[in-house]
Amino acid sequence: MNSSYLDYNATAPLRPEARAALLAALEAPANPSSVHRFGRNARGIADIARGQVADLVQAEARRVVFTSGGTEANNLALRLAMEGAAGVKSLVVSGIEHDSVLRPARHSGLPVYEVAAGPDGVVSVAALEATLRTAQVAHPGPALLALMLANNETGAIQPVADAARLAHAHRSLLLCDAVQAAGKIPVDLSQLDADFLTLSAHKLGGPTGVGALITRDDWTPAPLLRGGGQEKGMRAGTENLGGIAAFGAAAAAARSGLEEMSAVASLRDRLQAGLLAASPDAPVYGTGPRLPNTLCIGMPGVPAETQVMALDLAGVAVSAGSACSSGKVTPSHVLTAMGLPERAAREAIRFSLGWASTEEDVARAIDAWTRLWQRKRK
Ligand code: PLP
Repeated sequence: MNSSYLDYNATAPLRPEARAALLAALEAPANPSSVHRFGRNARGIADIARGQVADLVQAEARRVVFTSGGTEANNLALRLAMEGAAGVKSLVVSGIEHDSVLRPARHSGLPVYEVAAGPDGVVSVAALEATLRTAQVAHPGPALLALMLANNETGAIQPVADAARLAHAHRSLLLCDAVQAAGKIPVDLSQLDADFLTLSAHKLGGPTGVGALITRDDWTPAPLLRGGGQEKGMRAGTENLGGIAAFGAAAAAARSGLEEMSAVASLRDRLQAGLLAASPDAPVYGTGPRLPNTLCIGMPGVPAETQVMALDLAGVAVSAGSACSSGKVTPSHVLTAMGLPERAAREAIRFSLGWASTEEDVARAIDAWTRLWQRKRK
């Protein structure tokens, strides 16, 4: 059966440039710490990739710390903010952050203040400011604010530059998870002015298991893993050179592909129009500024899992916003943080497109959704 992969926000297909870089980097023994020619060659490969990743977000190459992915990068940023010279006293996090920010925050031992999003999926700077003030009255000293650049479920783009200004005006720091935004919209670290920015290769056409933390300033290392002094003491362990090389190549390809994102946006808009033509009552979530590739939509009265399975049977791969763990399906924390009732949150699914999506994918998705809706309506 022909199939359509519309789950790029979960993981994007590997770009050909990334595959080629991965295979090339694995050709020879490659430990960048070795002094001999093989080691020097490996170091050169890592340096090129560091530059490519930095270029994607307009940062300096020396600020890039390679990690095992977005999850580790977010955990490392929290740790630097808590253990470094800043010594933050509280954490102010948006309620729509990824679990790799929310969970380490809740386990940090510091007071955590969560800020809800509006019904459009956007966190307001006024709400962040009010919460930051409350946090600093109760726990005097710097805080760490965490606000992602774009949400993984709704695609809603957040006012990160304003949040960074707010954080700095209150002698605090800002962590920006740019995992979903990078490669889909232009990202400029100097303009965002975030203290920490995190990335993940597999969301932009690189392999899983590699990501990066990019810092605005120099930080005393507070590594999650101790061992060798790799990555300037920030992240011990022999570098995942193949992954790093592929991340660099994917970042370069994603950067040159940014212009093509308007074509992806047209496909997404056509998809949205097609679904709404079939079921005009279907609610669309994330109606403010949104990533060009993402559509979060609910089918009234039909649980998300049913939709995902029916679409899968029709050859269309999408995700449910709700997470299933230990047999218990919980509604998406992102949608509930936007004030959605639990039932509506349980009925939302996410379509996410990308560099290889086609008209045919969109047509197949509209057809599968329409047939499911007609069946359910009966
Ligand atoms: N942050 C966001 C917004 C994400 O969507 C994800 C992955 O789903 C992550 C962080 C974690 O990245 P990784 O899968 O590389 O650990």
